[in-house]
Amino acid sequence: MTQANLPEYDYDVVIIGGGPAGYTAGIYAARAALKTLLIEGAGTVSQITITDMIENYPGIPDGIGGFELMQLFKKQAQKFGLEVLPKDVTVVKKSPAAQVLWEVTAGDKVYKTLSIIAATGAMWRNLDVPGETEFVGRGVSYCATCDGPFYRNRDVIVVGGGDTAVQEALFLTHFAKKVIVIHRRDRLRAAGMLQKRAFAEKKIEFVWNAAITEITGTEFVTGVKVKDVNTGVIREMAADGAFIFVGRLPYTEMFQGLVEMDKTGFIITDEHLRTNAAGIFAAGDCRSKLFRQVVTAAGDGANAVHSAELYIDDVKGQTY
Ligand code: NAP
Repeated sequence: MTQANLPEYDYDVVIIGGGPAGYTAGIYAARAALKTLLIEGAGTVSQITITDMIENYPGIPDGIGGFELMQLFKKQAQKFGLEVLPKDVTVVKKSPAAQVLWEVTAGDKVYKTLSIIAATGAMWRNLDVPGETEFVGRGVSYCATCDGPFYRNRDVIVVGGGDTAVQEALFLTHFAKKVIVIHRRDRLRAAGMLQKRAFAEKKIEFVWNAAITEITGTEFVTGVKVKDVNTGVIREMAADGAFIFVGRLPYTEMFQGLVEMDKTGFIITDEHLRTNAAGIFAAGDCRSKLFRQVVTAAGDGANAVHSAELYIDDVKGQTY
């Protein structure tokens, strides 16, 4: 059957999200001559644009600022004619007009598309204490892989007791002189194997039943104020950096009820980045996966387009 048999639609693929996954998908889709629209949030702050320095994106040996790298992604996508819409998506739903179409509402318009790539990203959960926002990039970090190497022979604090906190604390021992894990309870949430490794690591110290009340510093972080949750006593602890790993939240609300998600709301995909809804693919940090980096998001973007392309070819070859 030919394309003429398909109901009317606006795009082969609508990419939702303007971070590394979204723009990589945009580059691949536009270059593959798929009719593509990338919708990026009008006011959403993406994690990469507030990342001070990215040293581990291949091909850029001197490192690059997150904002600057994102501008280069965009420039490359524009070169291939990617259509970009700076609007917030409010609704994603199956089109009542045809089973094979999805409808994406952004602003006052509805876009009909054969496929969607969800690249909406995630944001780390904040501690919400004084000093946290102020010192982001100047001692406060949410990524040990990104910022750990800046803390060679220094003392750092890690906040949290989950898998991420413990795994990243272990990673930070490769650089830091001392890693102090501050946790609000008297036991870790992290998997037993990670706990065992952390307890055996001489560079890691634990402060239990403790809540950070403030991150202190002048130009850079110099320490934290920590409250003993049992006694209420607050003490100051010196540190050169504070790594906060108290969970991460995906921007996936618009896909609730449409695709399968894990308990935190990250979208579950197969290895080809297909969700359980035919025609919806997910890429980057909004996807349920272990390693969230610019390079893995970019890889996801490329893979999602490849899978979408196969899907679109298949759909265009069917009868409706
Ligand atoms: P998480 O499991 O939700 O753990 C968050 C940690 O932060 C908990 O220890 C929690 O304390 C603490 N916390 C939350 N809010 C806090 C606050 N306001 N103040 C102080 N502490 C706070 O998040 P995650 O560690 O990022 O892991 C997310 C998911 O990814 C999990 O399913 C995890 O298993 C998975 N993951 C797996 C691996 C691996 O397999 N290698 C690695 C990383 C992540 P409480 O314990 O008291 O709740």
